[in-house]
Amino acid sequence: MPRVYLDNAATTKIFPEALDAMMNAYSEFGNPSSVHREGQSARKALEEARDSIASCLNCDSTELYFTSSGTESDNWAIRCAGKNGKHIITSSIEHPAVLRACEEMEKDGCRVTYLPVDNAGRVAVSDLENAFAQDTSLVSIMMANNEIGTIQNIAELARSTHANGALFHTDSVQAVGSIPVDFRALDVDLLSFSAHKFHGPKGVGGLVVRKGVDLTSFIVGGSQEFRHRAGTENVPGIIGMAKALELATESMEQASSRIRDLSDLLRNEIKKVCPQVLFHGNESYTHPGIVNLYVPGMEGEKTLLLLDVKGFACSGGAACSSKDSIVSHVLTAIGASTEEAKNSLRISIGADNTEEEIISFVSAFSSILRESLSGRK
Ligand code: PLP
Repeated sequence: MPRVYLDNAATTKIFPEALDAMMNAYSEFGNPSSVHREGQSARKALEEARDSIASCLNCDSTELYFTSSGTESDNWAIRCAGKNGKHIITSSIEHPAVLRACEEMEKDGCRVTYLPVDNAGRVAVSDLENAFAQDTSLVSIMMANNEIGTIQNIAELARSTHANGALFHTDSVQAVGSIPVDFRALDVDLLSFSAHKFHGPKGVGGLVVRKGVDLTSFIVGGSQEFRHRAGTENVPGIIGMAKALELATESMEQASSRIRDLSDLLRNEIKKVCPQVLFHGNESYTHPGIVNLYVPGMEGEKTLLLLDVKGFACSGGAACSSKDSIVSHVLTAIGASTEEAKNSLRISIGADNTEEEIISFVSAFSSILRESLSGRK
């Protein structure tokens, strides 16, 4: 039986059209900073890609900077926008790309407030309002959580931040390409995204910086990216990213409703075979494809390995931390016990998945669970 990929929050399969666009771009070798014809042809392709991505995100092309990843974009926003003051506010369920960058700021003498979340993973605006200090420079709150899928009310959090005189950054890596992201309507100052989460290539992302925000460079060297991010641009990667985002944006409404139906099917079928299942988060404001669950007595890592042997790829939590972190900080923050935070399973559904795959996953999952739970008696 062909393998079933249910780990789309870790990464997605590249769209064939994006791969084609990249392959064509690889045969052009000009450096976009060169003045000759080869260079100018690469420059033209790069700027077309910038225009296309800017139009999908509803920002100005001059506000869009290309980076090597979502991680770099997050680091840039935190390290450079954060240093205008002595205090940063973030949430306790951010991705390590934000949390580790905040820790570095703490080493440099900055105070960081880690806001709590409710049991569905939401930040309360009142908690944010209470956290501001005279010297708060930056608030960074993710749009969609990578482990439990919780979607925050970013526009409201940004409004409160501006009323308190600080800048607002949102890590939108799990949101862009999956749910509508309108930079202008959200009225945020900084927004990070990454191509491999929306069927684009790995190793390329971007940071949108609102016009008028004076962000210093994080990577220094040449004068690329309007003198703000040094390093020769990854032209094929950027072209692949633009193609992927165009396609993801075009098909978003249809794809997300299909994906949400598959997530509902998964929840309902699992409830039938395993009524004691616990789903983390709240379905009414969750990323359409992220389902995070726990069954009392389930051993997370063992279940994952057995699912892999049976042909199903899913995850025990954040893919980036699957090797070094056993207890999920996100699940702990929503009030899960250590047992739950160690043993939960994340299934993340994508546009390619089918009902048959979900049904066969539930059948494999329930047989693994039955065997392991009876073996433990
Ligand atoms: N932020 C979130 C919410 C993510 O899920 C990820 C990747 O999993 C990142 C940041 C890092 O993005 P990248 O893999 O492009 O470095």
